[in-house]
Parts: sequence; structure tokens; C-alpha cells
Amino acid sequence: MPYWNPKTETLSRDRLRALQLSKLRSVATWAQARSPFYRRSFAAAGFAPEQLRGWDDLRRIPLLTRDEWMASQAQHPPYGDLLAVDPARASRLHTTSGTTGADPLRALDTRSDWAWAAELWCYAIWGCGIRPGDIAYLAFGYGSFIGFWGLHYGFEKAGVLTIPGGAQNTEQRIRQLVAFGATVVASTPTYALRLAQEAARIGADLRGSAVRTLILSGEPCPPQTRALIEDAWGARTFDTAGMTEIGTIFLFECADRPGGGHVIEDHLIEEVADPETGDPVGYGELGERIVTSFGRSAVPLLRYRTADLVRKVPAGTCSCGRTFDLYEGGVLGRTDDMKLVRGTNVYPRAVEGIVREFASVGEFQIRLFTTPDLRDEITVRIEAPEDPDLLGDLRRRLAAAHEGLRFQIERVPGGSLPRFELKARRVVDARA
Ligand SMILES: [Zn+2]
Repeated sequence: MPYWNPKTETLSRDRLRALQLSKLRSVATWAQARSPFYRRSFAAAGFAPEQLRGWDDLRRIPLLTRDEWMASQAQHPPYGDLLAVDPARASRLHTTSGTTGADPLRALDTRSDWAWAAELWCYAIWGCGIRPGDIAYLAFGYGSFIGFWGLHYGFEKAGVLTIPGGAQNTEQRIRQLVAFGATVVASTPTYALRLAQEAARIGADLRGSAVRTLILSGEPCPPQTRALIEDAWGARTFDTAGMTEIGTIFLFECADRPGGGHVIEDHLIEEVADPETGDPVGYGELGERIVTSFGRSAVPLLRYRTADLVRKVPAGTCSCGRTFDLYEGGVLGRTDDMKLVRGTNVYPRAVEGIVREFASVGEFQIRLFTTPDLRDEITVRIEAPEDPDLLGDLRRRLAAAHEGLRFQIERVPGGSLPRFELKARRVVDARA
């Protein structure tokens, strides 16, 4: 059986909608009754949970932004007043990684919330073919950032031997995962590449190891990057995506790997909207994810604007039989990571896709700066061996993909650029 939850993963779309609507009513009623923040925001929008009669009533619920959550946290430290339970009932505290702001978002979970987080990860674990008997290695620094914590508990729940690879350097992790015969490794895409580079340096044979599956999460992952990872490891990669705000994943790639991931629609509602106007966009159109989660009781999340850019396609796009819609290519970027350079839009994911076509490039960095005569310049710094053709080829490929925009390519010494274990931060915008 390829499904973790055969009943819900194959529900007809009509019955799935009915299930979602019923869960939506419960969570809206819970939020209204227990959370001061939602009581305020519902009242301001003239919304009451009793108004949720049909699917279109979803849009009566006001949108929630990260700024509102952060403001609530600042006014009512340390957790803000979205909270719908007494903090004394919580069993865990996790934060965002702090990549987009100085002050991380803090979220509490109860024991049942935490069980829910692990349950959603199980859809991904089972869906990509991992079974009891597998040995899973989590190449992740276990800290307050939520990262792969939920996956750790998901592996345990699914009956998979779970090895926590925290508090070690990259070389020690490689030696461990090889020595323990890990068949599954979980990491960010960036860190999977770094593990492979380090393995090559110390002479460890990843392709000859027992690893056959890599679970990736934490960053958008262009196909070129995945191809490099799969080649270096001799293993299949499966993309997942989650966020601290829901405490778990919302998307997983099934064993059929149709070029995108299924949205876990029996536990979430995922809308896609135009980031400017907030109007819903149709299948195949790029837009911003708006998430409603059903399983987190301590911090209910209703219509949260995620800033993630996605393109939804219908369930039938995949041949696995699941009725869950998909996000083609996973998370494609963020509404706030697009850079405007001399009138041209530059998305870091697109640049990464091109850089990763050149297998000899190790780490890279995108630098934006203003020249003394007030021109915006964009430089891609790469760690790569001496190769006269490489720089010119890369410059031409980048320009061709960006309306002729001129990129400067700068070769820097190996090991001089920052390394990342969690979310990579490869864009440095030093413009005036
Ligand atoms: Zn599928």
C-alpha cells in the first residue's frame, strides 16, 4: 500500500472539500473562543464562524500576516495573543530560523499538536517508500529551530530506526551515517551537497553506501540542484516543504515523482492568491500560498499569508491515485526574495538553477551593490577550479535567462564562501 492514510489520500474531491469545511468550522470556532487575537480580527472583519456554510465562505475569514503575528508577540511577550491555550499546557517551544528578521517567531505546541506534526511527516515518509527496516539519519543540528524535529518523531511513529545526527561536524556525520548503514538521510538541499563535497574530500564513498533515499526540506530546490545531489549520492531525492508557523510539512513528493509535491489536504487548506491583489489564481498560475491548518490547537492558523510562491496543479497530474492537488516544482521562491536589477527581475532560485548546471562549481553567492555612479550591479561569486570557459559560459547562460542582464562572475578561493547547514543565505544585497 503506497498511502499512509489510504482513506483520506484517495477521497473524492467533493468529500475532501466537505471534510475540510467541517474541520475549518471547528478550528474557527476554537480560535474565536480561545484566542484574543482571532476574537479581535474576526470582529474587525465582521466574521463569525457560523457564517461558514459553503466553500466560498472561506474567504470571509480575514487574512493573517507574519507582521501581525510578530506585532502580537511584541505587545504580549513572549508568545503573543494568537495563543489559544494556557502556556502551561504546552509541551514544546520552537522558533523560526531567523533568516528573515532579527526576532524569531515563537510557537508553542501541546502534546496533541506535536503528535499531529509527526503524523503529517508520516505522509511523506510512507509516500516515498520508506518502511520499517529502513535506517534514517537526520543530518541536522537539533536546536530551537523546528527543522527536522517533526520528521524525527514521524520516523519513530512509522517504525523506522531513527539516528539523530546533531551536535557534530560534517565529517563526523558522514562517518556515522556510513558506519550505521543509513538507508535514508534527511537534510536541506544545500547541506546534502555539502555532505557530498566533504565525503569526496575525506574519501568516503557515498554512492557505494547503503543510502538510497534523501528527504530534502527547508529550501526551494531547483531540478538542477537535485540532479547534482542524486548523482553525488547515487540515491533518489524526495522534496518536502514545511514551516514553523504550522509546525510541520504541508507538501510531500510521492514515489511517482511527478515533478511536484502533493498538498496534505485532509489536514490543511492551501489557497493560492495574487500577492498584490489577494485574488485567487487558478491552476497553473504562479501565486502566494495562503495556509489554514487544522491540527495545531495552541496556535490556530487561519488564512496565513506565507509569502511562498507556488503553482498549483490538479491531483490528476500525478499517476499515484492520490486526490491531493500538487505544487508543481514544490516551493518556487518567496514573494520577498525577488530582486529588481536595472529593471530586470532576478529570482535567486533561477540563478541557482543555472549555476548548478555547472557541476564543477561548489558554493556560490549572489552580491548586489551600487557603483559610485549609482548603477546597480550583480555579481555571482563562485568556488570553482581554474577553467577559462566556465566563467564566460556561466555569464552567457545567466544573461540569456534574464533579458540580457549583465552578470559579473568572480572566481573565489575554495572554502572562502559561507557554508550552511540550515537555510542557505546566498544573496547579499549591499545596494545603497
Ligand atoms: Zn502522486
